Amino acid sequence: MVHYSPFVLSFKKRYPWVQLAGHAGNFQAGEYGRLLKRYCECEQQCLQKLMGDILQPYVPGYHGVVQRDEQDYNLMDDLLADFNSPSIMDCKMGSRTYLEEELSKARERPRLRKDMYDKMVAVDPEAPTEQEKVQQGVLKPRYMQWRETLSSTATLGFRIEGLKKADGTCNTNFKKTKCREQVKQALVDFVDGNIQILELYLQRLEELRSVLEKSEFFRTHEVVGSSLLFVHDATGQARVWMIDFGKTVPLPSPLTLDHRTPWQEGNREDGYLWGLDNLIDIFNTIRPR
Ligand code: ATP
Ligand code: MG
Ligand code: MG
Repeated sequence: MVHYSPFVLSFKKRYPWVQLAGHAGNFQAGEYGRLLKRYCECEQQCLQKLMGDILQPYVPGYHGVVQRDEQDYNLMDDLLADFNSPSIMDCKMGSRTYLEEELSKARERPRLRKDMYDKMVAVDPEAPTEQEKVQQGVLKPRYMQWRETLSSTATLGFRIEGLKKADGTCNTNFKKTKCREQVKQALVDFVDGNIQILELYLQRLEELRSVLEKSEFFRTHEVVGSSLLFVHDATGQARVWMIDFGKTVPLPSPLTLDHRTPWQEGNREDGYLWGLDNLIDIFNTIRPR
């Protein structure tokens, strides 16, 4: 005889959870389609505020701080829970991926970094200046700024961090994917030429853009290193959410951002909406007319 308890109904199906970026140890599976992400106060503050903002439908539901094995975690909805063998893509938004405060901190005790020089040369032997070549070292702020020019971050205001398709193929090697055409090809490959999925993504991105333009939270925060998570599956569902608020910080009042004005150090602009405009444009060029 089989006993059905109401408890069974709350179980979500089992599926392999997929993580496209970040440290593997930062996440733990939770119950009931939820996920634990290693605690970060900044992120907690943001998620909490976002639950009361018009952006709420575009971020994972937040359920507070929990402890497991003496470690604190932010408990949030697992955005993959309602999908079957989903295809997933993480796009890191914005024209820079470090905060202004990280840049000033990097300048505090200027020190020539041989390790950063070596990383630079490994990617592009012509990247260091003559002086840097003589010194065999670079300053950290210079390295941070150079690194952003490798991907499409500086030129398009977003970059693909990684994607995984339903067929199991995974690509996280976009660090040097820079030009529009390469990004477009990656997007075409991601949706596998499925125009319906493409249209759903476009619709959702346009909706999100108009909500971002009105959001109080968005206007009053520098949003750096945050991603859009794209998820679709063979049933034809396709959605996009904002994730990763570990480097999203409140601005000193009364400063606000439009997220499109080019960044100049001190203005705190992050290029988030400029990047979203470009992403929407590129999606639009894939669409048949
Ligand atoms: P980094 O700062 O290096 O980008 P992180 O440790 O802050 O990484 P996130 O960027 O928040 O981590 O997430 C890493 C990956 O985990 C995402 O690319 C995505 O694949 C997955 N992920 C994060 N949050 C969720 C969520 N709520 N639901 C489903 N998947 C998620
Ligand atoms: Mg991230
Ligand atoms: Mg992060």
